[in-house]
Parts: sequence; structure tokens; C-alpha cells
Amino acid sequence: MTLEDIKSPFDGSVIGQVPVASLKDVDGYLARAEVGAKLWRNTPAHVRSAIILKAATIAEENIEELAQIISGETGKSLVEARAEASRCGEIFRLSSFEGSQLYGSTLPLDANKGTGLDKLGFTLRQPVGVVVAISPFNYPGLLVLHKIGPALAVGNAVILKPARTTPLTAFAIAKYLKEAGLPDGVLQVITGSGSVLGDALVSDPRVRKVSFTGSTVTGTHIASIAGAKKLSLELGSSCPVIVMDDADIEYAADAVALGGYINAGQVCISVQRVIVHEKVMANFLDALKPRVEAIKVGDPKSADTKVGTLISEKEAIRVEKSIATAVGEGATLLTGGARTGAIVMPAIVCGVNPKSAFAQDELFGPAIAVSSTTGITDAISIANDSPYGLGAGVFTKNMDTSIQAARELDAGSIHINWTPLWRADLMPYGGLKSSGIGKEGVRSTVNEMTEEKTIILHGRSWQ
Ligand code: NAP
Repeated sequence: MTLEDIKSPFDGSVIGQVPVASLKDVDGYLARAEVGAKLWRNTPAHVRSAIILKAATIAEENIEELAQIISGETGKSLVEARAEASRCGEIFRLSSFEGSQLYGSTLPLDANKGTGLDKLGFTLRQPVGVVVAISPFNYPGLLVLHKIGPALAVGNAVILKPARTTPLTAFAIAKYLKEAGLPDGVLQVITGSGSVLGDALVSDPRVRKVSFTGSTVTGTHIASIAGAKKLSLELGSSCPVIVMDDADIEYAADAVALGGYINAGQVCISVQRVIVHEKVMANFLDALKPRVEAIKVGDPKSADTKVGTLISEKEAIRVEKSIATAVGEGATLLTGGARTGAIVMPAIVCGVNPKSAFAQDELFGPAIAVSSTTGITDAISIANDSPYGLGAGVFTKNMDTSIQAARELDAGSIHINWTPLWRADLMPYGGLKSSGIGKEGVRSTVNEMTEEKTIILHGRSWQ
């Protein structure tokens, strides 16, 4: 296989090389995965757990190494990369535990008319076999771990296809697993172009599960060609946050100044649309603007940089153009938006038409679209007027408003008095509508990576 350079989005320096697989290589990966799946499925759960737990320890001993790799290939600040790297061991640990909890249930068959005590029925949960895991660039550690941790812990073999721009983190994580004792063939990392390799990996009948995180466009294509197999799709979004007139404005401004700009806004649960009650609009913007302007942006490796680059200059140009188009359509740029290379300064765009592309399409960049509302019912209707439904947040002190929002907002996660940019690795996590199907979060992923059989023992009556 030929090799390709992986470059820093900040300064273009080469930080590593990876092989470029071609279509003719895919069959070899699948054949090895089938062998790996058989071996791993027949390995007792306590042995699998011990290996995953050891990988957790190794990941924790190498947080700084992993953080440097993550920051190097994504351009995110070292501060953010360290936070990401420090969660990797924990996801392994949660996976090791949840993967050993494959309980089933006993079926009360004699409660079914015509069935006696001569039969015993129960359910048995087992690994699906070969899993193809496809991950995006924005959290190359966390989003890989959320797939492979539970998949391996329950006994599957995995072919991992990381984003073309960020494969080095995936190789580092695979190395920790190998050092921990994971047998050959149980995890393989395949690198190269998703559009070249994707169809062959996803549609092959030897693959029993595709776990994909990425854009809605790619996810929809995968769903159309995968065939009859288990599918999890964690897709795009345009997350809303509602700020009501009874909210703690300073607190809401603190939260939005984080949630809209972490990882340069390249987070599926990033705050994109901020829907503010008209009575507190001026106060909210007065509180938000200095906080956003205080975000230190620049060289990802500088100790005081909070937000680094976007994944590429091309993406930064796309975001810059989106802001310019919104302003051209009548919105106001309150602050930010200037671009240098792959860096875009954190921006607040006010007076955005909620139906415009700037609000409706996923921005995946460091800018928020502010629009106004007259009350909670109107705000929920604006928030729900989106093809997406991943996360939402509401700032209010009113219990009735909170309950109405929890019941009526169409989003996979709803945060009362915080923004959607918050995740505990064990919580169920996934979107409604075009934001996806299935759930991640370690326990949920264990379910998604296994299947249940019903076993009936047919005895003869002794009565
Ligand atoms: P993307 O372009 O869809 O790519 C995601 C992955 O799919 C990459 O590994 C890519 O490989 C691969 N791929 C591309 N074409 C493929 C095909 N035809 N078949 C199979 N795989 C293919 O997404 P991205 O730009 O990396 O990530 C950003 C998107 O991810 C955003 O929309 C964001 O909202 C979403 N996201 C969602 C969640 C969530 O939990 N809902 C979390 C994080 C990110 P190449 O890199 O080689 O093209």
C-alpha cells in the first residue's frame, strides 16, 4: 500500500504517515475480521474484560501522547485535546464493565395457554460478529472509543475506518489494545478514502453491523446500501438553545460562550441556534459579546489557546462564506467571523431568520445564529423547525416551562439550564429525525453491538 502524509491544519507540517488502502484490499480485511470474530466470540467475557481494562490503564498512562496526536491532526487546542484524551481510558473501563453484563431473561412459558412446565425458555445475548465502525474527524479519540470499546468488550471483531484527516489517533488507540493483549484480527484499522472503501465495507454480507458517525449525507447513503444488517447512524445537527425571560442571563451567556465555540464549533452538539426571549435580548447580547471576544484563539499548542483551527482551510472558508451570506440576507455580525488560514474568529450573528440556511443547515463552525421569540411555545416551534433533532437546551427558572420543553422539544438530549454541548459517556446519546438512528453511550452501544436469541428447551412432562 502507498503511504500518505497526515498534516497539521495549523501550519501544514507533516505529523505522520498512514497506508492508503484500495478497493482490492477490502476483502483481506473482511476475511481476517471473520477469523477474529470467531476467536473473540469464543473467548470468555472475563478474559475480554481484563484486556479492555488493561487498555484503559495504558490509555491513561499515555494521555499526553494521545493529546499531542489529537491536537496535531485536528488542529484543536492542546487544552481541548487533553480533555478528550483523558476520557479515553474511562470509556474503555465503562466498556469493560458493561460488556461483561450480557444478562438475559427467563420466559414464563407456562403463562401461555397450552404450554406446560415441561419447557424452559430464556434469552441469550451474543456478539453480532463483524462490525464496521466509521468515524468522523472532530473527536478522533472519543468517537472511535464509543464504538470499539463496547463492540470489542462484547466479543465482536471490528474494522475501524477513521476519517481520512485524523487516522493517527485511531492507530494509537489500536496500539494500546494490542499492548493490552488483544489478539490479531480482532481490531483492524483501515485507512484511505471513505468514498472509495465505504460501499464495499458497508454492503458486504459478512458485516453484521455498521456503526457510523458523520454527516447526514454520508449516513443516508450508507443506509441506502447497507442491506439487511444492524445499523447505527450518529449524524448531523443544528442544535437550538432557548433563553427565556426568567433565565439567569449571566449564567446562560457563560454556557453559550462555551457551547457555541468548543472545538471551533465542530461538534455535533454545538450550539448553533440561540432563540432568545425579546424582553432579554439586549441584556443577553451584552453579556455574551465580551465572553465570546475573550476566547483565546490561535496556535493549538500554546498553553493559553482555548480554541484552535478548523479541520482545514477549506472548511474555514466555507464557514466564512456562510457568515457573509447570512449578513448579506440582513443579519448583523455582532463580533468575530474574520478568517486567517484555518482559523475563524468566534462569531455572533444576530437577527438571523430561523428559516434561513444559516440557521437550518449544519454550520460546524465557530458561530451562532441568534433570533428572537415571544414565549416558550413559539420558541419550541422555532427550535423544532429543523430537519435535525440531536440536542437542545433551555434556560429558565420556571418548572412548568422546563417540563413543557422536555416534553415538546424534538431532540435526543434536552438540557434544562445548560446547552446541548454536554455529555457523560455512559448516558444514552443519539439523535431524532435526520440526526440519526440508534443510540450510543456505553450501555446503549452494548445493546446495539449484540443480538438476542430466544432458546426453548423442550422437555417431556414428568407429571
Ligand atoms: P463525513 O464526511 O460524513 O465523514 C465521516 C466518515 O465517513 C469518515 O470516516 C469518511 O471517510 C467516511 N465516509 C465518507 N464517505 C463514505 C462512504 N461513501 N461510505 C462510508 N464511509 C464514508 O463527516 P465528517 O465531516 O468527518 O464529520 C462531520 C459530521 O459528523 C458532522 O455532520 C457532524 O454533525 C457529524 N457528527 C455527528 C455526531 C453524532 O454523535 N451525531 C458526532 C460527531 C460528528 P473520509 O474521511 O475518508 O472521507
